[in-house]
Amino acid sequence: MNKTNKFKDSALPVSFEDTFIAFQHKSDRELLLAYFIFGLTKSPFLVKFLSQVAKVTLSMGLPVKPLIKATVFKLFCGGEKKEEYSKVIAKLGKAGIGTILDYSVEGTEDEAGFDGTKIELLNIIEQSKSNPNIPCTCMKMTAIGSFEIFEKVTANIVLSIDEQRAWDKVKNRLDEICKASYRAGKPIYIDAEESWTQAAIDQLAEEMMSKYNNYKAIVFTTLQLYRWDRIDYLVRLMEQARSGSYRLGIKIVRGAYLEKERERARLIGYKSPINSSKLDTDKEYNKAIELFINNIDVVEICVGTHNEDSCRLLVNLMAENKLARNHPHIYFSQLYGMSDNISFNLANAGYNVSKYLPFGPVESTLPYLARRAEENTAIAGQMSKELEIISKERRRRKIAN
Ligand SMILES: Cc1cc2nc3c(=O)[nH]c(=O)nc-3n(C[C@H](O)[C@H](O)[C@H](O)COP(=O)(O)OP(=O)(O)OC[C@H]3O[C@@H](n4cnc5c(N)ncnc54)[C@H](O)[C@@H]3O)c2cc1C
Repeated sequence: MNKTNKFKDSALPVSFEDTFIAFQHKSDRELLLAYFIFGLTKSPFLVKFLSQVAKVTLSMGLPVKPLIKATVFKLFCGGEKKEEYSKVIAKLGKAGIGTILDYSVEGTEDEAGFDGTKIELLNIIEQSKSNPNIPCTCMKMTAIGSFEIFEKVTANIVLSIDEQRAWDKVKNRLDEICKASYRAGKPIYIDAEESWTQAAIDQLAEEMMSKYNNYKAIVFTTLQLYRWDRIDYLVRLMEQARSGSYRLGIKIVRGAYLEKERERARLIGYKSPINSSKLDTDKEYNKAIELFINNIDVVEICVGTHNEDSCRLLVNLMAENKLARNHPHIYFSQLYGMSDNISFNLANAGYNVSKYLPFGPVESTLPYLARRAEENTAIAGQMSKELEIISKERRRRKIAN
């Protein structure tokens, strides 16, 4: 257990230590695969090396796809097609966990690609209408418009006529997606990205919230609490919501682009937007959770984290404030393949839980998979925790058999 943990599991309505519940969905073979892969990601060098090898060998047309698909892709992704990911959705649904399908095609660069992503998102929203195991959808803004255009709008650079046309198309695509979500009555989570594109993303997300969040939060924006300016922004958003303009939908995460953010700030020579320490990020994250609980009448939240202390804090505050475990405004969310001890134990205890489930062609999910692996190697303690709980369950099964 984490030494900084303020709350003892035994004093809470849920424990994250029950590995029988955590891995009930995994066969012995699947558990062994997870053990093997998490073991590999302990070495940052090996992760970087293998990511490069995968990219190069795939681009050369060498037959490595089946190997990737049977290993790291299987652990972190739902599949390439609907027939594949539907099985995962059903499996998670059986444990009371919702699936957020994450169409993981990154690096789309042209208008046809952006339209293709929009169509794929509309398909997912359509599926969610009749599937209670899909509580909402998620999207990246830079999958429906070019990264450069988000960068220019964020920097207040005047757009050329062609760029303005492209920007209008982005807005139309987004509006279609949010309108479909509104009609389906299922939320859409807009992911947060690099800070040099984020002001444009925030602006569009706020426009969509004010348009579609009248009776409940349909559009959710994401706040990265590794940024030191996000609590002020959250307070501003809450004031807007309080003044009655719209229901606020917020997903909070710590943030996935730490090294890139710091490196860019250093190279260009501006103040890094990132907190100076992990402890500061943790404090900001937990402050956001406290603010949510104090404003839960006007805000609907998704707490996207693998951090056990943050989950314990929320569970504890819910109990203190006598909020139902399945309060409709509160969702916990983890990425598929990670922190099953949190997701499955929370769901088993009656909390609202979902998993982000990436899917798409193996080649297109490589940047996501590389980020997962690289991010994990950078997180002190995370891998040892994954390995620790997997080992514990493997030992438990050996004794039980
Ligand atoms: C459901 C879900 C949705 C997500 N959506 C997004 C998204 O839209 N956008 C996005 O950017 N990320 C997203 N992420 C990824 C997320 O931002 C984190 O990278 C990841 O979850 C690890 O953080 P943690 O809270 O799980 O836990 P922890 O392991 O406790 O925290 C690790 C995080 O702390 C921060 N950190 C680490 N070291 C330092 C340091 N020295 N100084 C300051 N901060 C530090 C970093 O953000 C790092 O990722 C999502 C994650 C989940 C689970």
